[in-house]
Amino acid sequence: MRALRVAVDGPAGAGKSTVARAVAQRLHYHYVDTGAMYRALTWKALRSGVDLRDARAVARVLDTMDLTLIAAGPDDADTRVLVDGEEVSEQIRTPEVHASVSLVAGYPAVRAAMTRRQRELAQEGGVVMDGRDIGTFVLPDAELKVFLTADLAVRAARRQAELRARGFVMSLESLQEDIRRRDRLDMEREVAPLREAADALHIDTSRLSVAAVVEQILAAAARACGGTP
Ligand code: C5P
Repeated sequence: MRALRVAVDGPAGAGKSTVARAVAQRLHYHYVDTGAMYRALTWKALRSGVDLRDARAVARVLDTMDLTLIAAGPDDADTRVLVDGEEVSEQIRTPEVHASVSLVAGYPAVRAAMTRRQRELAQEGGVVMDGRDIGTFVLPDAELKVFLTADLAVRAARRQAELRARGFVMSLESLQEDIRRRDRLDMEREVAPLREAADALHIDTSRLSVAAVVEQILAAAARACGGTP
């Protein structure tokens, strides 16, 4: 049987990237962080001085952007991202990019181009891809779909710790507000909104360790392929 395609979706701060990366490492699969793709575009559009409210101008930035994702190794925290050959792994995770990425990700032309790239990356199977619309839209026939959620307070605390590790200090209140706003934009957009697939394995990670979530997903992967994935 061919290697699985595992889709991991959910709202901001639900633990998707940590869990998806660990699952990929355990299965020796590729990990694709689709959020990093939207962040990279947002970073480049901001740096180019493009008006982010201008969908066409943003799409033009994407047309000329050379994007490379290098999946994190066992000791790295995040996917490394190169835009036009320049490493921007840190820059794409600043509050400035956080604040604008959902606007950019809402544009239909942007989503169409990103979806095409993501499908190519998953073509061979053996991939764990995380995002908002992977199980519903990018890979609707993925062999395993997972939807992660967590309480808003837990998600904000995780985001705060993540940002603190990068040297940014933000209050829990402002992070809760930011997450709420991004969730709303992600759920209410017309193209490929954040939704749980009907056939997804639903896991609330609020009170679970990363290891416990990973084990649940590995067990589901074994069931999905009737043996060892
Ligand atoms: O997962 P991460 O927080 O890095 O994603 C950044 C943003 O990119 C999300 O808030 C969402 O607006 C957008 N996104 C998306 N579809 C995906 C992945 C991310 O719209 N598949």
